Amino acid sequence: MFENLQEKLGRAFKLLSGKGRISEKNIEDAVKQVKLSLLEADVNYKVVKEFIGGITEKALGEEVLKSFTPDQQFIKIVRDELIKMLGEKSVPLKLSSQPSKIMMVGLQGSGKTTTTAKLGTLLRKEGRKPLLVAADVYRPAAIDQLMQLGKQIDMPVFTGDRKNPVKIVQEAMQQAVRNINDVVILDTAGRLHIDDAMMRELKEIVSAVKPDEILMVVDAMTGQDAVNSAKAFNEALELSGFVVTKLDGDARGGVILSIRHVTGKPVKFIGISEKPDGIEAFHPDRVAGRILGMGDVLSLIDKLQYNIDEEKAKEMEEKFLKNKFDLEDFLDQLKEVKKLGSIADIMEMIPGAPKDVDLAGSEKSMKRTEAIIHSMTSKERRNPKLLNYSRKQRVARGSGTTIQDVNKLLKSYDQMRSMMKQFGRKGKLLKGMKGFS
Ligand code: GDP
Repeated sequence: MFENLQEKLGRAFKLLSGKGRISEKNIEDAVKQVKLSLLEADVNYKVVKEFIGGITEKALGEEVLKSFTPDQQFIKIVRDELIKMLGEKSVPLKLSSQPSKIMMVGLQGSGKTTTTAKLGTLLRKEGRKPLLVAADVYRPAAIDQLMQLGKQIDMPVFTGDRKNPVKIVQEAMQQAVRNINDVVILDTAGRLHIDDAMMRELKEIVSAVKPDEILMVVDAMTGQDAVNSAKAFNEALELSGFVVTKLDGDARGGVILSIRHVTGKPVKFIGISEKPDGIEAFHPDRVAGRILGMGDVLSLIDKLQYNIDEEKAKEMEEKFLKNKFDLEDFLDQLKEVKKLGSIADIMEMIPGAPKDVDLAGSEKSMKRTEAIIHSMTSKERRNPKLLNYSRKQRVARGSGTTIQDVNKLLKSYDQMRSMMKQFGRKGKLLKGMKGFS
């Protein structure tokens, strides 16, 4: 995420690092490099102008010039300004009516249907009971797509008569009341371009259902086009916020850094993968941290809380403490860790994580570990001591690995067992597993 911008900003900071004394000229050069980085990231020029104005004034103040660590001071100034541009604070959904209504709008291809399902998944994790509504009657494929997603995430989807969106939405509300769904998420029609008929239809839905939230989904990859359509949608519909999708791709950052400033409306969520759980609440300070390559531990913790099954974690913790954690349990834990995403995703969130880790190698070794354990019998997993030479040979063959690989895994397991007693608290579980994969 934002690798390019991160790398370019890094060049600006380098201009001020390792110098005993710095001059105004040094600062001006660094500011110029920041400006260039933002323009290349496709940030709206007005936003860049204001941004640069803000940092220049502060950077030329005494603090940076006199500081022993001018680069650190400068990074802090840039960070504060980034947070300001991104909107300072995260703005949660305001869901006050019962059932609450979230209306999703946006151009075709922005990720609206996918985001409808993602948001449903997120709200369910928060204890709500969502109903998804397919109100995009112009693109029949969108209705099928939402139905499929609903099946995939096991969430009800209301489709209605497939002709009149206002009617669909009204009927959906009645169903929600009947089935005690406390939040209804409406996937409305998108077009390739903004047109009057679409806006009229959306306005009709707004006056018929009075949504608690109107969220526009915008595709980060489409740059300033997305910002321009955001402006037009906001003028026509009074949006309550945005979901910026596809930040996992090579989006340059322009949309996320411009949209709040240009429209005055907050980004509430970001899309970070195609999968149903590829959505995060938007936190300006965390995203600023990611842009600056400082990692994002808080989002990692959120991810852990959402994805790790509490009951299971407790059960594992007990096994750990009683030294009864066997290879069967280990396989279970590997599955839990995989829910967090790829190793690359996780590393990105850890501040100072080395950039040159062999990610592919780590993923491969995790897969190998899994294959080896899968090739053992249930008895062997429960009691790895049973694994004599011929059994090890069989396991190696079955998993397409070597006997050395099997030995290595068993050795790590032994080491882990001897460490187990030291693990007292939950949360250390993951740390203990690191050396194992
Ligand atoms: P709609 O026409 O606005 O309803 O768009 P869709 O929901 O059909 O999404 C268009 C494409 O974008 C699909 O292939 C989605 O899987 C993909 N997509 C949506 N959100 C994200 C995201 O956050 N990251 C990535 N990589 N792909 C996404």
